[in-house]
Amino acid sequence: MFTRRRLLASAAAATLAPNLPVAPARAAAPLAGAQVPGWYRYKLGDFEITVINDGARSFPLFDGLVPGVDKAEVTKALEAAFLPADKATFLYAPIVVNTGSKLVAIDFGNGPGAYAESKGAFGQLQVNLAAAGIDRGTVDIALVSHFHADHINGLLTADGKPAFPNAEIMVPAAEWAFWMDDGNMSRAPAGRIADLFKNTRRVFDALGRKVAQYGWNKEVAPGITALDAFGHSPGHTAYVVASGGKSLYVQSDVSIHPVLFARNPAWPAFFDQDRAKALETRRKVYDMVVAEKLPVQGYHFPFPGVTHLEKDGDRFRLVPAPWNPSI
Ligand SMILES: [Zn+2]
Repeated sequence: MFTRRRLLASAAAATLAPNLPVAPARAAAPLAGAQVPGWYRYKLGDFEITVINDGARSFPLFDGLVPGVDKAEVTKALEAAFLPADKATFLYAPIVVNTGSKLVAIDFGNGPGAYAESKGAFGQLQVNLAAAGIDRGTVDIALVSHFHADHINGLLTADGKPAFPNAEIMVPAAEWAFWMDDGNMSRAPAGRIADLFKNTRRVFDALGRKVAQYGWNKEVAPGITALDAFGHSPGHTAYVVASGGKSLYVQSDVSIHPVLFARNPAWPAFFDQDRAKALETRRKVYDMVVAEKLPVQGYHFPFPGVTHLEKDGDRFRLVPAPWNPSI
């Protein structure tokens, strides 16, 4: 047994016994000081899916992250998952689906501006796409799940040009109708929502507003069906990707921090625009993926974000797919 006492004793011996025989001295290897490129690939039927790490962003834990729930309860949930109790960290994982006939990217991360400002912590999509050997110019379809900044900012390059110049940009019709409406914009409360209206227009104006709008329950790309998952935003969309008898539920932001919001499916999130509807959607989707044993790809799940969900009493638990060294 490697007891704590023995572990401490051997550590002390190592520091206090300078006369033990040691291996010949070598030059110390310099610390890398940087993470490796983040991308992961797996097969779904005949399709190939590449998950691209856009990085992670931490916010100091604030009152109201879980509206109506005491901050002490939120702290407890973070600690129960062995996470720091004083901050909430959000992860970002867009995907690229190669259907064999089309290259389809779904969601676009925080963008190169955020990459520069955060010194590379988030906004990594374009760097990691290149690391994965995917040329942005070869993407045929750019599917947007909703217009929150962490999903659309990467549609542009650092100098504000289209990052996917040959892609048809496809957006949920309900999302477009809400955010591009001048009346809605004029009534938006100052702060986050007003900023989101401005950011949405900044991005889509730079793209010349050249988008194709799609409805729900329709195939929007080969094997990819858009599904109503609204609540998190007015046109928030999830997808089912299906190929060769296999299906995957791409959940977008049905929950944005699984330790908080899948473990506690009755907790609303500050970032959910219609909280009651977001909770209803989350419950419906998670009951369905559990019943169907459908794998889920989660935009804000721990990288690479492909997982099953299981029921644990009234809660949901992620059972991440094992890392596959070959595909
Ligand atoms: Zn998001």
